[in-house]
Amino acid sequence: MEMLMQREAPRVQKRSIKLARVAGFCFGVRRAVEMAQQARRERSGSITTLGQIVHNSQVIERLREQGIETAEALSQIHGGTVIMSAHGVAPQVLQSAKEQGLDIVDVTCPFVSKVNRTAKQLIEQGYPILLVGDPGHTEVRGVIGTIESMGGSVQLVSRPEEVSALTLGKKAGIISQTTQLAETFAQIVAEVCRRVPDVRACNTICGATDELQEAAVALARQVDIVIVIGGRRSANTRRLRQLCEAEGVPAYHIETADDIDSRWLFGKRSVGLTAGASTPDWVIEEVARTLNDGDLPDDWNLNNPER
Ligand code: SF4
Repeated sequence: MEMLMQREAPRVQKRSIKLARVAGFCFGVRRAVEMAQQARRERSGSITTLGQIVHNSQVIERLREQGIETAEALSQIHGGTVIMSAHGVAPQVLQSAKEQGLDIVDVTCPFVSKVNRTAKQLIEQGYPILLVGDPGHTEVRGVIGTIESMGGSVQLVSRPEEVSALTLGKKAGIISQTTQLAETFAQIVAEVCRRVPDVRACNTICGATDELQEAAVALARQVDIVIVIGGRRSANTRRLRQLCEAEGVPAYHIETADDIDSRWLFGKRSVGLTAGASTPDWVIEEVARTLNDGDLPDDWNLNNPER
């Protein structure tokens, strides 16, 4: 008897979507955005952030829709509530806002406040401050302003090669901008120790950037392609893409799901997703849904409390 053999239809294997262990908003940025939204719910009158609360145009646009505007300078704010940066501001800026009669919501990240507290302790112990940081960065301007308002002396240094040009005495108290690389801080401390007998170095790096980068590299080692989500001008998003590419996988920087090019995905069985520190959850989830036929992947854990 002839056996009728039924052929099984070939299964189309679904693409797997894997999210980096840490992706998107850091603690301080999430807190700042939530505090701004809470202020909007509780206060009447205009609410304006001084500078962009986060470097992401989708977040700025959503806040604007919710009634929170952005101004680049205090002189552009004419009453109501002003929200200061998560990266902190100098006391002089707070004072000017008070003199203008503005209500102030200070959303300075607690890790940035810790830099200022550490600087204060070092000054009280008689140490002139060396701040490891990037010239012109909002946080650096705020910390320098805070030190000067206490009558302390501060010099900014970005790279170990710059140490030889600093004016150094017998004491130095070294602190860091929260987002500096630990290696750079350690190299600068080593250079200063060669020249100054009494050095107190306090590590004030917050670690959020390191954590994001380590998670992106670990992700890149497990997938066929990485999509990195973040504002076009977001430096930390660009850095994540470079790190993933350096692991030998194609890595693409997109701002929203609309930027995905289907040709990138051809023949790719596993797609990794990561996002810069200023990328909100809803933008990351929109990308995940687009890649996963409209649904979030079953094991989606963006709100994992571990983060
Ligand atoms: S990077 Fe660190 S210090 Fe800066 S806002 Fe985020 S958690 Fe705070």
